[in-house]
Amino acid sequence: MGLAKTGKKSDSHDRYRIATLGSHSALQILYGAKQEGFSTIAICEKGRERPYQSYKVADKIIMVDRFSETKKLQQQLLKENAILIPHGTFFEAFEMEEFEKLKVPYFGNKGILKWEADRLLQREWLKKAGLTLPKIYKKPEEIDGPVIIKFYGARGGKGFFLARSAEEFYRKIKQREARSYIIQEYIIGAPIYIHYFYSPLTNELEVMSFDKRYESNVDSIGRIAAKDQLDLGLETSYNITGNVPVVVRESLLPEIFRMGEAVVKASRTLNGNGKGIYGPFSLETVITPDLKFFVFEISARIVAGTNLYTEGSPYTALKYGEPMSTGRRVAREIKNAIKQNKLKTILN
Ligand code: ATP
Repeated sequence: MGLAKTGKKSDSHDRYRIATLGSHSALQILYGAKQEGFSTIAICEKGRERPYQSYKVADKIIMVDRFSETKKLQQQLLKENAILIPHGTFFEAFEMEEFEKLKVPYFGNKGILKWEADRLLQREWLKKAGLTLPKIYKKPEEIDGPVIIKFYGARGGKGFFLARSAEEFYRKIKQREARSYIIQEYIIGAPIYIHYFYSPLTNELEVMSFDKRYESNVDSIGRIAAKDQLDLGLETSYNITGNVPVVVRESLLPEIFRMGEAVVKASRTLNGNGKGIYGPFSLETVITPDLKFFVFEISARIVAGTNLYTEGSPYTALKYGEPMSTGRRVAREIKNAIKQNKLKTILN
């Protein structure tokens, strides 16, 4: 079934099931889907199913030993008329090629994925959008100010470290396992993660919400006096443990809308089919004391910071006047596409 049957005039959203992997932002996605009247499926790894049972967001739970086995469930998911909603865990569970080959209808543009997955392509995209990015240093000898060293594939910032000279870089990297890394200018300011949603049905960019991260150990180091920090020989790490809500100074909003729209526009030039990014995405930024945004990363899908707003954010309250999480907004888009007979516009 799946996409092949979606062209019927009488199509109705209750024929479809919203499915996702039980991790990351699944509670929000499935809850939002239920608010929109869909039935839902959680694919859970053995030992990680408890929240999905307890919060009752899934009408059906399919157990797997490992998320990567989801590809073996394709026939079953197609039969169930499932639509997969991707989130961060998908990209850890599958190789990119495997993922691109999945036949189960998928919300989002798969053509954009490689632009997000590769830090250099990401930079190209964000530069095309005219955004300000932290400088990248080609070699340690070029370091002339504070830098952050980021390891590839280090989801959640584990092991990242700071340096301000080549000597410090070499000393610190020696203490870590050999892995590929980038050396990026460290921007001193307030980190803000912006949660956007772009609808190809209305051609509108929506600013859904904001968060900042709660990372171990960097967010607790301030509780220790500077002298004790030195005595203890502490090193910072950026392992994500949770998210904290933020509202932004209102005068920053025009620039936030402008950046989001520029990213959407630039994305249409990336992969040849002109389709570009749609659905939820996030810009990870640092705002400097002179209120300039530096964008250090884009996530081309729902981010976990949106989990703060299962019943909506201060911004979605203004726009919708009813609880509207990003997960629910995704389900609403799918429902609207079904009503308008445009499911093919938003599914891959
Ligand atoms: P994810 O892929 O889950 O977004 P990651 O592993 O790529 O995470 P980042 O989000 O890039 O990690 O960074 C981890 C931490 O470092 C965050 O607290 C972020 O605010 C901070 N950070 C990253 N880049 C910079 C930068 N250039 N200047 C200042 N802080 C930065």
